[in-house]
Amino acid sequence: MAISAESALPEGLHPYAEGLEAGRVRYQSCGDCGAAQSLERHACQRCGSVRLAWRDAAGVATVYAVTTVARAPDDSFRTLVPYTLVLATLDEGPRVMGHAEPGVAIGDRVRAGFFRHGERTLLRFERE
Ligand SMILES: [Zn+2]
Repeated sequence: MAISAESALPEGLHPYAEGLEAGRVRYQSCGDCGAAQSLERHACQRCGSVRLAWRDAAGVATVYAVTTVARAPDDSFRTLVPYTLVLATLDEGPRVMGHAEPGVAIGDRVRAGFFRHGERTLLRFERE
């Protein structure tokens, strides 16, 4: 039986969010073949194994896509606009989304930082 970790656990206890609270970027890797997973999976995208474990990434990534958010998705983000969001490819392979310093460009090498936003800790990349 497959239970979605996202719906089964309170947000703060999700391994990815828990990692951010501890100042770590986490990703899943396969316990059988070692493949790093992009996005959260319930089975390995390479070999189909369900033995997936969360690991800490080194926090260094390459910017894959950049966007500037001018309109806040909700009230809590209104004080931050305009802000920069990136999709960044961790050196370990998976892509993660996070805030970034203004002016970052596709291909820039960035390092993960963290900031408190309300009750949560969010990812913010800065140039290396
Ligand atoms: Zn695998």
